Amino acid sequence: MINYSKIPAACSIAGSDSGGGAGIQADLKTFSSLGVWGCTVVTAVTAQNSREVRGIWNLSAEAVGMQIQAVRDDFGIKVYKTGMLPDGRIIEAVSENIPGGVPLIIDPVMVSTSGSRLIDEDAVAALMEVLIPKSALVTPNIPEAAVLSGIGDIAGREDMVHAGRVILDMGAGAVLIKGGHLKGDVSADILVEKERVTEFSSGRLAGDFHGTGCCLSSAIAAYMAKGMVLPAACRSAKNFINSAISEPFRSDSGRFVVNPAL
Ligand code: PLP
Repeated sequence: MINYSKIPAACSIAGSDSGGGAGIQADLKTFSSLGVWGCTVVTAVTAQNSREVRGIWNLSAEAVGMQIQAVRDDFGIKVYKTGMLPDGRIIEAVSENIPGGVPLIIDPVMVSTSGSRLIDEDAVAALMEVLIPKSALVTPNIPEAAVLSGIGDIAGREDMVHAGRVILDMGAGAVLIKGGHLKGDVSADILVEKERVTEFSSGRLAGDFHGTGCCLSSAIAAYMAKGMVLPAACRSAKNFINSAISEPFRSDSGRFVVNPAL
């Protein structure tokens, strides 16, 4: 008899980062590190290293839809998470093919830290109208929260909660606004749910780390796949990220990349 292990499965619907620091590769490393089986639906291929994005090739909506169907039909996925969804047709394909009743976490990826646009400008409306209403959680950073909420100047906790409420009103189940872009010694993320607001603070490590957003949202997905509910999953994921950036990988160009495989 074969001794098999029945670990929970999660699915990342995201872009490939050839450098392995962000995107689908970061998600898979995070899932593995946390004992979750990772399925992947590739939305775009990027030619990328820790410094720059040199090229982007979007997959067709049909290719995205068929990948979702293939994994959906066989793996008992407990949680779906999205990262880079580069165009409106892909967003529609995701919406049409993910099953109802399974939590969806949306990391609303827009621009890489290195400055490349990862979603068409006109696809942001589709994200808001079609996908956010189906989500259990949306995890914007401050610039993404500003675009989604229309609140231009998010400068502190009150603005973050306000932006979170606006995104909640679009139909999201909950919103985790990541405070990493704000100044100060403390990095505070704020989880806005209908009935409560929870803050997760930790000391800020100097420097910026490629891949943190992908790693955080996939860690939340992994903890939820293992049965945790919000906000415990967010708290555990924040601790996980802190350890993944405490000993980052350093590329030849000197950029630090999160290492979820520690
Ligand atoms: N490349 C891909 C495919 C991504 O999904 C992301 C972020 O989600 C990035 C690059 C950006 O990574 P960062 O902004 O952490 O450098």
